[in-house]
Amino acid sequence: MAAKPPAGDPVQDAPQVASPQHAAAGLAAVAHSLRFAQQQMGTVRTARTLRKVNQKDGFDCPGCAWPEEDRRHTAEFCENGVKAVAEEATVRRVTPAFFAAHPVSDLAGRSGYWLGQQGRLTEPMHLAEGSDTYEPVSWEYAFDLVGRKLAALDSPDEAVFYTSGRTSNEAAFLLQLFAREFGTNNLPDCSNMCHESSGSALTETLGIGKGSVSLEDLHQADLIIVAGQNPGTNHPRMLTALEKAKHAGAKIISVNPLPEAGLERFKNPQTPQGMLGGTALTDLFLQIRLGGDQALFRLLNKLLLETEGAVDEPFVREHTHGYEEFATAAKAADWDETLTATGLERADIERALRMVLAAERIVVCWAMGLTQHKHSVPTIREVVNFLLLRGNIGRAGAGVCPVRGHSNVQGDRTMGIFERPAPAFLDALDKEFGITSPRHHGYDVVRAIQALRDGDAKVFFAMGGNFVAATPDTHVTEAAMRKARLTVHVSTKLNRSHVVTGTRALILPTLGRTDKDVQQSGKQFVTVEDSMSMVHASRGNLPPASKHLLSEPAIVARMARATLGAASRTPWEDFERDYAAIRDRISRVVPGFEDFNARAARPGGFTLPHGPRDERRFPTATGKAHFTAAPVEYPRLPAGRLLLQTLRSHDQYNTTIYGLDDRYRGIKDGRRVVLVNPQDAAELGLPDGSYTDLVSEWKDGVERRAPGFRVVHYPTARGCAAAYYPETNVLVPLDATADTSNTPASKSVVVRLEQSPTV
Ligand code: SF4
Repeated sequence: MAAKPPAGDPVQDAPQVASPQHAAAGLAAVAHSLRFAQQQMGTVRTARTLRKVNQKDGFDCPGCAWPEEDRRHTAEFCENGVKAVAEEATVRRVTPAFFAAHPVSDLAGRSGYWLGQQGRLTEPMHLAEGSDTYEPVSWEYAFDLVGRKLAALDSPDEAVFYTSGRTSNEAAFLLQLFAREFGTNNLPDCSNMCHESSGSALTETLGIGKGSVSLEDLHQADLIIVAGQNPGTNHPRMLTALEKAKHAGAKIISVNPLPEAGLERFKNPQTPQGMLGGTALTDLFLQIRLGGDQALFRLLNKLLLETEGAVDEPFVREHTHGYEEFATAAKAADWDETLTATGLERADIERALRMVLAAERIVVCWAMGLTQHKHSVPTIREVVNFLLLRGNIGRAGAGVCPVRGHSNVQGDRTMGIFERPAPAFLDALDKEFGITSPRHHGYDVVRAIQALRDGDAKVFFAMGGNFVAATPDTHVTEAAMRKARLTVHVSTKLNRSHVVTGTRALILPTLGRTDKDVQQSGKQFVTVEDSMSMVHASRGNLPPASKHLLSEPAIVARMARATLGAASRTPWEDFERDYAAIRDRISRVVPGFEDFNARAARPGGFTLPHGPRDERRFPTATGKAHFTAAPVEYPRLPAGRLLLQTLRSHDQYNTTIYGLDDRYRGIKDGRRVVLVNPQDAAELGLPDGSYTDLVSEWKDGVERRAPGFRVVHYPTARGCAAAYYPETNVLVPLDATADTSNTPASKSVVVRLEQSPTV
């Protein structure tokens, strides 16, 4: 059964460059998907697995959090979904013999791509103090070690419990319960690094930190603005929704520093038209400078205020607060400053305004292009101002649409994975379980790294993810992680975080979404929440990758028993035996989950309530939606410098590298590329094909260098550059974060490009 992993590290980063493409998906995507699936799973397993992806009786794609329509296609997935599924359902295996042959010092020199290609982890592994080799241990040994190390801490706040967005609702609920019963709110999650800015801005203005639209709203919109987002690679089935909206008459404005193939044209592989010419999606492309979005929306708001009849006055009167102060600030917006901040032409903004005025129902979608700047929170609040002005919240075909990146990142937060939980949530948790949760705030991702660095945190536990690859300031983060007494990773596959360890380390292999999960009470399912607040069941259908795997809920339950012992009155064993017992408790703690077991069992699940969307009820301090009036900010660039954004390639999902190509952008066989506008490159004396080091500049004066990047002349906005993470995370200073949300500002890194002495 187990296929042999590739021998040696074949990864040679030697990028070949062709012209960018102008259409996404189509036959090429189908061919790539099938080839990838075939390599990882073989023919029979491919067929068996893919027919269950995103089906009502199947499992949720472990890729992004894009929702499914109620009526499902036979093939309800995209190219990146296939890659995510295939990597999990692969027949390749990482066994104890693999670890014996590859000491940590060897693995540490391998690329993330190579590590991921080795296959599924099969047994709990332990790295002893002073050892260079992971060795197999029993689950009992592993839990005993975790329990003893946690019990030995001077304070529960010396432990950090990280969650990645793949974790199911059930496992997430148990993990936060365990952490709080243990005595800490140190529950950082991947949301801290992506949509925390959205959550902060939306909670303040609308009273709920989630998007307010459904798929149906997108289909009914007159105008969809897609800002700072590349759905063709990161949420590919969103293109289907955009296409449907276009066919119903919607217009689309794309706001992005880079032109992206998926937003130019979509060749829907499910339709005959898609296999031919496809559908042109974008009506207006605003090629904005990185970080110019707040200025753009502020000026649009000024122009709306100056246009008679443009403001929905009854809505503003009845449902909003803070209008006068906002209007004063917006009226002061300045054309010249906006053109400087955005790099746009006046005529383009005027055209955008005409499209806005012609639209009754507007949806604004966004992703990391808006959330990872110093001023991300005020930027998103300005988007809310824009929508409120014309009553575009709580109306069919309109609203806010922050598009989430990992399949259950939204659900994990709903389940209480949050370092700053609401008192009402803790009150309900305490009442249900008879515990006393700590009320002081815990560490988010950045603060967790700082705590590890400073010796304030000593045990690091990660439920999934690849923490050291996902986080900023790589050298600082890795050094911080090495100071821990114990690092524990619950994982399906090998990654960089397993080789950057504390004094001792554990790898705890777990079931994936595709694996069948059978516990004492029988076959289990778990639930997830998508980007549009729909909660549904996920049931794996494959035999587990190894007989030694435990599910995530089982791992948390056993860790809790080993740590809390007889003092805990929580029925951890019951929770492991039957996940319905967990859902019963969730239904009594988390609002919106009443009668959870019955509703989760319905095909397709159910949608969580959302006050602003459902009834224009805003759970803010005033009971109204809030206009806000922050000063306009945008990054200022010293002469001879570029503003770098870190981004993904097409062969990549978050930190998982599926291959070395970025097909739509014309990059092949390599990842160390930096995309630079040809005029900027000419001014900087950087010929296409030359090699450069990227050196970031930050107020702490520390030199952060990413060496040996091939310069690619690319039609990005002037002054802006782009390169892939995690390779460029080394350039993002740990304390360069967004105000309020503390999200790393990975989309606005000031860099200088220096001729590479390394190539
Ligand atoms: S759009 Fe996202 S959830 Fe859907 S199949 Fe693709 S990666 Fe998976």
